[in-house]
Amino acid sequence: MTATVHRPSRTALRRLAAELRRGGLVAVPTETVYGLAANALDAKACAAIFAAKERPPEDPLIVHVDSVSAAAAVAELNPAARALARAVWPGPLTMVLPKKAVVPAIVTAGLDSVAVRVPRHPVFRDLLRECGLPLAAPSANPFGYVSPTLPEHVQRGLGDRIEPILDGGPCEVGLESTIVDLRNPARPCVLRPGAISAAQIAKV
Ligand code: AMP
Ligand code: MG
Repeated sequence: MTATVHRPSRTALRRLAAELRRGGLVAVPTETVYGLAANALDAKACAAIFAAKERPPEDPLIVHVDSVSAAAAVAELNPAARALARAVWPGPLTMVLPKKAVVPAIVTAGLDSVAVRVPRHPVFRDLLRECGLPLAAPSANPFGYVSPTLPEHVQRGLGDRIEPILDGGPCEVGLESTIVDLRNPARPCVLRPGAISAAQIAKV
């Protein structure tokens, strides 16, 4: 198999959205790094992400959605999460919250929480809207390798294991999203530093 890079035309977005609905994998641009996306509600599709990346099953995936209401379909949002969402979404902040039952265990590595984010890359947002699904997407590289910020990086790392790569140009941030645990809204806890600073979170 050799991966093909697709320019983000209407036709390509429609075709790749159909591929995702069928349970396929698509490499996607985000503002942080390129991701390897699958339907987050389809356990088999998400298993294919772990297989392609050789990612250990203990390492949970981030679920990407295009709105706060879509986030509320996969996670229990509390008032602190809603306030933070208003301030920084769409953007490179991931929130860990209690998960809803629709999210398969493979996505969260069996945890009862889920990591969720509304990305701001316009091409990824177009694809999310086109397919109408939450998309689980870790970085599009073999486990343990540097995260890709260009379609060519994805092709080099995973080109023989995946098919479509959606071209969204170079990633603007080039750094992983900040992850904040908001399960206890009184005590938010930054689990991974990233593009959004702890000070920005504290201010909200
Ligand atoms: P990435 O590899 O950039 O997709 O980031 C995924 C990371 O998010 C994982 O390695 C975990 O550190 C974190 N993560 C995802 N889901 C959860 C969760 N439910 N609870 C805590 N951390 C999580
Ligand atoms: Mg990664």
